[in-house]
Amino acid sequence: MPRPLIATIRIDAMRHNLALAKSRHPDTKLWAVIKAHAYGHGLKNGMRGFEAADGLALIELESAIQLRAWGWKKPILLLEGFFESADLSAVIQERMDVCVHCNEQIAMLEQAKLSPSSLDVHLKMNTGMNRLGFMPTAYAAAYSRLRAIPGIRNITFMTHFANADALQTPRLPVSEQWRRFQSGITDIKDRDPNEQHKQCVANSAIHMLHPEIRSDWARPGIMLYGGMPNQQTAQEFGLLPAMTLHSEIVAIQSISAGESIGYGSTYTAPQAMTIGVIACGYADGYPRHAPNGTPILVDGIKTQMVGRVSMDMITVDLSTIPHARVGSPVTLWGAGLPIDEVASAAGTIGYELMCALAPRVTRVVTE
Ligand SMILES: *Cc1c(COP(=O)(O)O)cnc(C)c1O
Repeated sequence: MPRPLIATIRIDAMRHNLALAKSRHPDTKLWAVIKAHAYGHGLKNGMRGFEAADGLALIELESAIQLRAWGWKKPILLLEGFFESADLSAVIQERMDVCVHCNEQIAMLEQAKLSPSSLDVHLKMNTGMNRLGFMPTAYAAAYSRLRAIPGIRNITFMTHFANADALQTPRLPVSEQWRRFQSGITDIKDRDPNEQHKQCVANSAIHMLHPEIRSDWARPGIMLYGGMPNQQTAQEFGLLPAMTLHSEIVAIQSISAGESIGYGSTYTAPQAMTIGVIACGYADGYPRHAPNGTPILVDGIKTQMVGRVSMDMITVDLSTIPHARVGSPVTLWGAGLPIDEVASAAGTIGYELMCALAPRVTRVVTE
């Protein structure tokens, strides 16, 4: 029997979450973001789960080419664009849209001798993330340079928000980034009043939590997998977990008060305890920094991890679950135990847990 560690990927949950994103703002077109192998769910599962999306957005050119080979006909957006001019022939041939975020990319496009109107671009503005994009004051110039290239067809205005999920007023509020964005595009709109420029700004948090920010296209990622950047909201919005990580109890130890558990002996039993050993460790993607107390379900009952996460195993307190046996089912995250709750206990975010799921974990796909 293989090791009893399985990630169940639910295509129906992905479809449900996409439909929910659509119903939130029916007039907004959706790029379903499937970078990083659909946030760890598998590229093909992402394509199938989001077949109703208006397009798929990702970072990896080789994955984008794979999507075309699998028959994806709708738009594909490369969220960081291309990295060298050698990428451009595949980009054109496979009809991909690209982000353009720096002058070096524009120079490559100028030299590429594209056939007329062969490429749609998302021109990225840096409104305060300070990673990719042109400053608002440099945006119109970048636009003009791009517009002068005959190979470029549509230019969509794009930016990305730093604090869309913030619970308190952040140093850089959404409203300030939105103001910078509007100021950066005003000149272009005035100069080119006849051209219809689309806008694409919203990630999951903007899409769900900021109805005041509307644009033609949104780019939801995490919500489509049933996670949200800030805790409770995934269930509040009726999102379903697309990934559930299950395992089993593979051994049980009865230890006396004063005994400690695992590497570094970081947990000492305050009284006699029953400890369950679970077939899942950091080599499977379980976060090694998860502390004592991280929630885990055994036989549907919530208990807590005790002791350090090892490469292939973790240990839980079974004192409150006396009927647990070797073979009892365990849920590490997903249905019944929100991934965001586990992530928060481990000092990280659901995104990281999904994306870090290791290749050795068996994926079982359900419709
Ligand atoms: C990953 C990514 C998204 C999706 O963000 P979520 O928080 O997962 O919704 C949107 N836009 C860009 C540019 C991204 O890189």
